[in-house]
Amino acid sequence: MSTLLGCIADDFTGATDLAGLLARSGYPVSLRIGVPDAPPAETAPFEVIALKCRTAPVAEAVAECRAAWRWLQAAGARQAFWKYCSTFDSTAEGNIGPVAEALMQDLGALQTIYCPAFPENGRSIYMGHLFVGRQPLHESPMKDHPLTPMRDSSLLRLLEPQVTRPVGLVDRLTVARGADAVREAMEALAREGVAHVVTDAVADADLRVIAEACRDMPLLTGGSAVASPLPDLLAARAGLSRAPAGARRDRIEPPAIVLSGSCSAMTRAQVAAYAPHAPHHRLDPVNLAAHGPGEALDWLSRVPLSDTPLIYATADPDAVAAAQAKLGVAAAGQLVEDALAELAIAAREAGRRRFVVAGGETSGSVTRALGVTRLDIGAEIAPGVPWTYAESGGAAIALTLKSGNFGGPGFFAEALAKLEAE
Ligand code: ADP
Repeated sequence: MSTLLGCIADDFTGATDLAGLLARSGYPVSLRIGVPDAPPAETAPFEVIALKCRTAPVAEAVAECRAAWRWLQAAGARQAFWKYCSTFDSTAEGNIGPVAEALMQDLGALQTIYCPAFPENGRSIYMGHLFVGRQPLHESPMKDHPLTPMRDSSLLRLLEPQVTRPVGLVDRLTVARGADAVREAMEALAREGVAHVVTDAVADADLRVIAEACRDMPLLTGGSAVASPLPDLLAARAGLSRAPAGARRDRIEPPAIVLSGSCSAMTRAQVAAYAPHAPHHRLDPVNLAAHGPGEALDWLSRVPLSDTPLIYATADPDAVAAAQAKLGVAAAGQLVEDALAELAIAAREAGRRRFVVAGGETSGSVTRALGVTRLDIGAEIAPGVPWTYAESGGAAIALTLKSGNFGGPGFFAEALAKLEAE
């Protein structure tokens, strides 16, 4: 099927988040990990390419995104969506602005929008200022992010140094007047030469207005939420009908496994909630450095396939800091990621077919180890976290990839139950 909208995401769990929100529409959505080597075949109307370029050098990020767009264009896409984080994670140089300008050039777009709002997750934009819950971005925990500390809440001020052409705003008062008012405001800005338009949005209704007003733009940019209304809008224009209910993929049967390498506060609560009800095994990076993952592999081989075990490195900040002090930050993380990757392969070899994975980096290393390059998007478990379906080592598997703070405390059991109900 020819692709209607080609999406490029600047990180892995961000891509899953976007794909999940697009799939709410009921139209087929496919997620590719990296730019595929092979030319497009068997494409979905909504394609998402997951890159890892949020903090890459600008030139590298631009080149990668352009390559992704070339692939999507070959798949039939004539419109692009550039997805970044709902907290506008970027450095002073980019990569949000430079990639948008490069894609505008490739698509022949004179203007685009910037709308990272995600009201369901507490991200809103008012008068060009981004809020996280009730706090302006620069007062939120994002001010201390290790790679992309966000010290300003004005999206216009953040964007200006990243682009070469003028930046403007369509504010909430205009959005409240509806799609025609937004279109007129965009046209007025275009006449003044404004190429980059930040759009205010505080609620989902605002995002629907913006999506409707901008649905014909060659390039849209933002968080996943503003893309969410696009499948319905674009499919209606293309005369595309939804896949009939029930004509979905084959069900993936258990056995299952839960692998957690995230140490976020929410993942710690999720591990604490799930562990009392299942066989569980903790990975300790210091022990892994000394003895390797053999002990964990032995343990897993003894867990009956009828059980859904949890293997986790998830630990509180003090334990993480202690391991990092002994081994170094990167080495501690790598040991855990390598061990979870090896355990994922062992689980698949043992016949396990359902994988719940917690952690953004962890998800990257587990999917790489399983040789997964394409994911089809299934039912949503929590906002921004869907089940996905893939081929791995000749077997059909189901995977859910959860970034640190997503989901509620009962996420692991909820994820498994959701698949049972499919
Ligand atoms: P999140 O989505 O919560 O950021 P990630 O998987 O992206 O989770 O990142 C967590 C990182 O922490 C990974 O590199 C992982 O290997 C590492 N890690 C996990 N457990 C520990 C631990 N006990 N000590 C040190 N590092 C750890």
